[in-house]
Amino acid sequence: MWNRGWRQEAWTRLDQPWDVIVVGGGITGAGILREATRAGLRTLLVEAKDFASGTSSRSSKLVHGGFRYLKNGQIRLTYESVRERERLLDQARGLVSPLGFFMPTYRNDKFPGWVFGAGLIIYDLLALKWGHQRYSSSRALERWPFLRGEGLVGGYRYFDAQTDDARLVLRVIQEGILDGGFALNYARVEGLLRRRNGEVCGIHLQDKATDGQMPDIEVEAAVVINATGAWADSLRTKLGGEQRLRLLRGSHILIPAEKVPISRAISFWHPHDQRPVFIFPWEGIVIVGTTDVDHGVDLDLEPSISNREAEYLIVAARYAFPSLNISLEDVQTTLSGIRAVVDTGKTDPSKESREHVLWLESGMLTVTGGKLTTFRVMAHDALRAIRHRLPAHTKLDRRMRMFDQAPVEMMDLDQLSPSTRLRLAGRYGREAPQVVNNARSGELEHIPGTTSLWAELRWAAKAEAVIHLDDLLLRRVRLGLTAPDGAIPLLSDIREVVKAELGWSLEKWQSEVDSYTNIWRSGYHLPTA
Ligand code: FAD
Repeated sequence: MWNRGWRQEAWTRLDQPWDVIVVGGGITGAGILREATRAGLRTLLVEAKDFASGTSSRSSKLVHGGFRYLKNGQIRLTYESVRERERLLDQARGLVSPLGFFMPTYRNDKFPGWVFGAGLIIYDLLALKWGHQRYSSSRALERWPFLRGEGLVGGYRYFDAQTDDARLVLRVIQEGILDGGFALNYARVEGLLRRRNGEVCGIHLQDKATDGQMPDIEVEAAVVINATGAWADSLRTKLGGEQRLRLLRGSHILIPAEKVPISRAISFWHPHDQRPVFIFPWEGIVIVGTTDVDHGVDLDLEPSISNREAEYLIVAARYAFPSLNISLEDVQTTLSGIRAVVDTGKTDPSKESREHVLWLESGMLTVTGGKLTTFRVMAHDALRAIRHRLPAHTKLDRRMRMFDQAPVEMMDLDQLSPSTRLRLAGRYGREAPQVVNNARSGELEHIPGTTSLWAELRWAAKAEAVIHLDDLLLRRVRLGLTAPDGAIPLLSDIREVVKAELGWSLEKWQSEVDSYTNIWRSGYHLPTA
């Protein structure tokens, strides 16, 4: 799809009339690309940095109905989310997987246990799937002996799902491209083109991958969609609009699984402020999250966890599992993402609505907010909002399959375990057999201590639009999150696998290593001071 040399060629093909230009290559933009191409629209997606480098690789990785929205009476949002969760579980197997949750209930909780029981009945009814069960305190402790026993009344088991968020974005973009769409990373929209009447009719695009080798270009379209998430105000305000977004940072800490031996998520109330927090296994490590604080930092800098957030999450982990003595020393990696919510000035950031919004201003549609889980709903809402500006042949059908079936039977069955086959099919879709066929000897083995294969690195370097080392290690293959020290100790082995595919000189490799190390230390590590 993105073989070597694709970029130079792509740049020369931009100058054509598009039906839709999508600005932003996170899950929102990816979903719109996917659904627009399926509807028969000539669609271009442009991303200023790497695909999914914004919030969409920094989420909690849950594909969930949002059980807590029920408590705010947001039945429609919960209904939409659980139905999308079920759809993704069915159509993106291997990429979206079921995740069991346990919610312990304690004597001093702000809500009595039966409230959750009642909520879970509604939750399961909305999904048409009966999965929840009540546990007594003794049964809960038998199952999770490390759980806080003091004041434990019992709890509830229920199901949601989890994913690899950056790979989900890639997979959705891949489907869009295979359907005739066009997507370019490291291509930043610097300005908007406007007709005499002020309506937006295109973009001014700047290449950010090469040092000025590609000329700036103006590209026209019937509609421009601003799917830039937390950055949405910066494009909107170019049209004279007021800032409307409040930017909230949510941070996580990642701890080695040996330290917290759990096979399902534990969801509970933080003892300090009674906010919901989760501890759950993901890709061989354990994630604790999240915080919810005003960001207040330049969006061009890597978002990163503050000491205060890290301590807040350690308090939560120690509260849930007192006997495990979890401390800051156990933190292997950190992860922070920025959420865009409509600013209504609420004192408590967690009270701001997380629903997505659509604003049509001077012909440009902005879509922001919402969730990873509901990206397809957001894409349909966006396309419906601009329906009147699209060609008559546009076919919007919400019932279509989101993902094509991966040709699992084409992969070499003997060499791969069923779970690895499923993993590859889910992550790479129609390209999964090529990931396997391109592997050299020994590359279908797991990278030590991780769930990733060496072959995934080779494939990403060869065909997944990797421009910088952090694209490879933080988003294509998530070693920057899952391997100790951000996989920096593995870099010479990694180079052996990817060097021919990337075609980088030793000098270029070294400068990429320096830059990756800086990014990892500043954005994915506990603060040093
Ligand atoms: P982004 O992913 O940020 O993408 C916007 C993109 O636009 C960026 O890549 C940026 O580089 C690009 N861009 C900006 N300016 C320009 C420009 N001028 N030209 C070109 N490109 C540009 N949802 C769930 O369903 N489940 C969860 O578990 C979950 N957990 C979350 C945890 C946290 C801490 C946060 C913050 C959010 C979470 N969410 C979750 C919500 C979800 O992650 C977000 O709603 C979603 O990722 C937003 O995607 P997006 O595409 O709108 O924005």
